[in-house]
Amino acid sequence: MNHTAHRRLHRLAACCQSLRGSHCQGADFFKGRSLSTGSKSSTDDITISKTTQTKDPLSPPPTPAASFPFSPNEWRRFPLVASADHTHDTKTMDVALPSPSTHPNLPVASCVLLALDSSSPTSPSPLSRPYTPISSPTAPGRLSFLIKAYRDGALSPRLHALQAGKDGVWIKGPFLKFKYSKNQFKSILMLAAGTGITPMVQCLHAIFSDPEDHTSVTLLVANRSPEDVLLLDWLDSLLAQHPGRLEVRHYLERLPSPPPSRHGPSWHAGFIDEGALRAAGAGREGGREGGR
Ligand SMILES: Cc1cc2nc3c(=O)[nH]c(=O)nc-3n(C[C@H](O)[C@H](O)[C@H](O)COP(=O)(O)OP(=O)(O)OC[C@H]3O[C@@H](n4cnc5c(N)ncnc54)[C@H](O)[C@@H]3O)c2cc1C
Repeated sequence: MNHTAHRRLHRLAACCQSLRGSHCQGADFFKGRSLSTGSKSSTDDITISKTTQTKDPLSPPPTPAASFPFSPNEWRRFPLVASADHTHDTKTMDVALPSPSTHPNLPVASCVLLALDSSSPTSPSPLSRPYTPISSPTAPGRLSFLIKAYRDGALSPRLHALQAGKDGVWIKGPFLKFKYSKNQFKSILMLAAGTGITPMVQCLHAIFSDPEDHTSVTLLVANRSPEDVLLLDWLDSLLAQHPGRLEVRHYLERLPSPPPSRHGPSWHAGFIDEGALRAAGAGREGGREGGR
């Protein structure tokens, strides 16, 4: 898959739509916060989001800069403390924040830029790419990423090659990509393809860790094969903890016969198309098939 196609997937992933609710705004949901259109590169996306972030009510409160582990204006280096294979081409990678009690202060949903060491101890090498942390935005001490390595990619294979306990990564950010506000909608439909699930994970953390947030979620996940499906265990545990408030439907280009046993009937062949959206209740008053 080329870079443009990957960026399109991330744009698709950022497309969330209200399913129902008296104040339903349909496609206007997250208007102005979704990944930018018409930009030429992911760096352009980030520049636009920077502007958005400074005005956003979810941005970190104005406390002394020293209490924030990251800065959108300067690079800071963090030790890589864990790196583990997740699927055949993805790894989970954790960096340690300055202390176990350091709060990441990530507005939901935001990404950061990652870069590698250079010959200078005070600055990274010039190549950087945006990645979306998947650890809870409120969990202190660590920041976790889910990173796919592209065979001929400039940065991702080099991130995979880093050694935990020895190497570090440089981080700049956070940059808000779209703003999640609790209880803004009764129900949300999320579409995620491949690693495009990472911003949805941030929203799911925010929704299901807040006892005052009553939002329901239908998550449609697109992948090529069962081996490509990401964070299945985590999704399983979330489903078990929140029956009735979370539904996950997997769409696979190559659906094996019989389909995977986990998640019962939630595996479907093909892409997230109009039929999939209709089945999930998109655009229909009252939500998905069968309601809740
Ligand atoms: C907001 C945002 C958040 C993101 N979050 C994540 C995340 O959480 N996890 C994650 O894994 N990724 C994420 N990404 C994607 C990530 O930023 C990188 O794009 C990805 O890791 C690839 O970078 P790379 O330098 O390895 O590959 P690149 O060098 O950028 O290349 C990507 C692919 O395109 C191919 N390619 C490059 N140039 C050409 C060309 N001229 N013609 C044809 N093919 C070409 C390469 O072979 C490779 O397969 C995110 C992207 C955005 C915009």
